[in-house]
Amino acid sequence: MATVLLASRNAKKLAELRRVLDAAGITGVDVVGLDAVPEYPEEPETGATFEDNALIKAVAGTRATGLPCLADDSGIAVDALNGMPGVLSARWSGRHGDDAANNELLLAQIGDVPDDRRGGAFVSACALVAPSGERTVVRGEWRGTILRAPRGDNGFGYDPLFVPDDDAAGGRSAAELSAPEKDALSHRGKALAQLVPALRELAG
Ligand code: IMP
Repeated sequence: MATVLLASRNAKKLAELRRVLDAAGITGVDVVGLDAVPEYPEEPETGATFEDNALIKAVAGTRATGLPCLADDSGIAVDALNGMPGVLSARWSGRHGDDAANNELLLAQIGDVPDDRRGGAFVSACALVAPSGERTVVRGEWRGTILRAPRGDNGFGYDPLFVPDDDAAGGRSAAELSAPEKDALSHRGKALAQLVPALRELAG
């Protein structure tokens, strides 16, 4: 059984990756989070792109533990803001991970933007780094429209403001989708699915 470190303390991300592996029929990979390995200094996310940040985290995880390490970096890119908040999504309001404040600020910034220009995309870059140094970096995008007020209680982050373009979402916000429904459409689901061949190789 190969162990892969997911460079995250987010239980939802761990569960999501396990669901992707199950769906792909990969049984030889045990996914563990940062809580399962001795603590190491985590690198600041200073990259200019999602890909840079994912690689920074995955390289640090492999270097510290000797395990293959998978890391993701994600955010929302709003067309009317020229792709911002982008890599700054988690700390857009100034405080890291304050979802309510981030959502409120984003809504205020695009308050005057008409409905036909409220497009945007969730973006996820995932990097897998093997102990040999081999690197695989992939990107998934999920297009949709930014609402004028939050809707729904599921998910996290900007989910209550985002209505996916997909017919399968039926006009619901990402926070009104069930977890499996979101996985099937989401940026992270799409990125992780592209890593399946590399993960299968690790599983041996
Ligand atoms: P990360 O965990 O450092 O990659 O930060 C990602 C940030 O982007 C989160 O704090 C959220 O604000 C936002 N984000 C990324 N993916 C999602 C998603 O699936 N739904 C809602 N917000 C997301």
